[in-house]
Amino acid sequence: MIGTLIIIIVAVAVLALALGGIALSRSHRRSGGTTTAPPTAPPKPPPQGPPPTRAEPAAAPVAAPPVAPEAEPEPLGAPPSYRSRLGGVRGLFSGAVAALRAGRIDEATWESLEEALIRADVGVSTTAALLDELRAKVLTREISGGDDLLGALGTSIRQLLDSVGSRALRFDGRADHPDVWLFVGVNGVGKTTTIGKLARRQSAAGHSVLLAAGDTFRAAAVEQLAMWAERTGTEIVRGAEGADPSAIVFDAVQRAAARKNDLVLADTAGRLHTKVNLVEELKKIRRIADRDPGNVTEVLLVLDATTGQNGLTQARQFADAVDVTGVVLTKLDGTAKGGIVIAVERELFVPVKLVGLGEGPDDLVDFDSEAFVDALLAAD
Ligand code: GDP
Repeated sequence: MIGTLIIIIVAVAVLALALGGIALSRSHRRSGGTTTAPPTAPPKPPPQGPPPTRAEPAAAPVAAPPVAPEAEPEPLGAPPSYRSRLGGVRGLFSGAVAALRAGRIDEATWESLEEALIRADVGVSTTAALLDELRAKVLTREISGGDDLLGALGTSIRQLLDSVGSRALRFDGRADHPDVWLFVGVNGVGKTTTIGKLARRQSAAGHSVLLAAGDTFRAAAVEQLAMWAERTGTEIVRGAEGADPSAIVFDAVQRAAARKNDLVLADTAGRLHTKVNLVEELKKIRRIADRDPGNVTEVLLVLDATTGQNGLTQARQFADAVDVTGVVLTKLDGTAKGGIVIAVERELFVPVKLVGLGEGPDDLVDFDSEAFVDALLAAD
């Protein structure tokens, strides 16, 4: 009798141990064997988005370790001035500007002005339209001196620039519905750097930012963004090289909603691992980012100003595909092709919202048409 009882107790104990072991091994397998998610992380809600397609590599997003509380984000520095950074394009206009300030309006002045506008990549038809308008005003004596002509040119350029809508970055800030800003554009234009710089600015402005390392084509891009996350004290959702970017963005939005982050800045690749069309991939990322609780409020096309007019064809393809809401024009420093700001807005009819004026962390500024034109046509 006692023997039977002991056998039953031992059998129950063995069964309990076996069940516990199975449960443990299952939960370990589910977490991929490792997790760097902080222990306070709330349970992840069940995914509502479509699983990654079979043709694409499965995503394995893993949150980076949280930044240590003592790691204070670096304080913002003073933004650079347009005048100090637009040396390249200002050099093109200096001859014409000097002649006009000296009061000369002759054929040589018109030619110098035309050459400057064309070489600055404003575009042939826009240059012709601008100069025709000015010549007509000189003929009717509406403009009588060089200073007046410079003033009128500045006004016309500003009118061209300011006819495409608000440059403010849209932020809805709905409770539990993080705003998502997607960054698209080809490789090397400065997407990752722009996101890092913007994370600084937005954090300093009081937003709780989360970064989504969706450029899984380049391992370096993920590392680069992780460095920015550390510098800015923001969290990052990242995956292995080759992970599905849509799944990274999906995970980032879920995490942001759970953690009350109000802004997700999502990087994307300018190239693909698979043969899936880049446009289709971007559309999918946008769809998934916008699915409740996500709220896509900006799709920012990042363009490299140094590519000038050559970058415009590409820009049009992106704009057609993903409903671009604004342009970030990087590398405006050190290029003479600054007139591309005008061409981009004329071609895409999308406002340039931000410009990159250098590689430093504070070298991303709101685009200000007045400061831009002042710098372009300043005498000093
Ligand atoms: P991505 O491939 O689009 O993510 O491009 P990255 O962010 O890696 O940037 C490519 C290079 O451009 C890096 O060396 C950046 O430092 C540089 N870059 C980005 N923005 C600017 C800018 O506004 N001015 C200058 N001079 N360089 C920039």
